[in-house]
Amino acid sequence: MLRVENLSKSYGDERVLRDVSFEMDRGDVEVVVGPSGSGKSTLLRCVNRLTEYDSGDIYLDGDSTTGPDADVNQLRRDVGMVFQDFNLFAHLTARKNITLGLRRVKGLSKEEARSAADEHLEMVGLAAQADSYPAELSGGQKQRVGIARALAMEPKLMLFDEPTSALDPELIGEVVGVMEKLVERGMTMLVVTHEMGFARSAASTVTFLEDGNIVERGPPEQLFESPEQARTGEFLGRLD
Ligand code: ATP
Ligand code: MG
Repeated sequence: MLRVENLSKSYGDERVLRDVSFEMDRGDVEVVVGPSGSGKSTLLRCVNRLTEYDSGDIYLDGDSTTGPDADVNQLRRDVGMVFQDFNLFAHLTARKNITLGLRRVKGLSKEEARSAADEHLEMVGLAAQADSYPAELSGGQKQRVGIARALAMEPKLMLFDEPTSALDPELIGEVVGVMEKLVERGMTMLVVTHEMGFARSAASTVTFLEDGNIVERGPPEQLFESPEQARTGEFLGRLD
């Protein structure tokens, strides 16, 4: 469903992604790990074209996301993104944060958007917070609104960029719990995270990225128990 082919990206003289290639099937959960600055966020941002890349190609369900027929608005509907710092609109309630895109991008009526928003708030356990503003929510609640907002667009693929890194430790579990629920429902997910428990239990594949290169990619048992590359063991051993 997602195919990344020889993706390369530089900022000035710095090569941030070097010939990155991998494929995901529907329902796969791909976890990307790697040191700070290794290109993880850039990779995710290339997938939904928040960042344009220099060479290579990305295909979603067989269609190039950058070819002449590519439609960036359709891509943003098909690919939901959850950010480390939530990116909620501070002046809008939780519900309005969700209905905004449903009305503007999906063209839903007010009633349809409201009912979809409430359904997704309920799914992330926030039915009672629909009228709260972000400032009135905890970090974990804000992030769950962020997830509900992305899900309400009914994407084919969800991108998560360190969704728990800004949270106090005691709030991480509630967000990971929602992500696990999505895994159970068969959502296709590309996840950058330091939550190794999630990677071990939920990932179909773990990719270790360093200096813009895929050092090793395989099932979690391989990367955690018997990595083929010494660097993988060093890096994951430190985190685990
Ligand atoms: P972290 O774990 O700290 O989030 P990361 O793996 O997500 O790191 P990226 O954010 O993808 O890393 O950044 C990779 C490299 O690209 C870094 O050296 C970063 O400074 C550089 N970079 C990222 N975005 C830009 C930008 N907009 N302009 C210039 N350089 C950038
Ligand atoms: Mg990052």
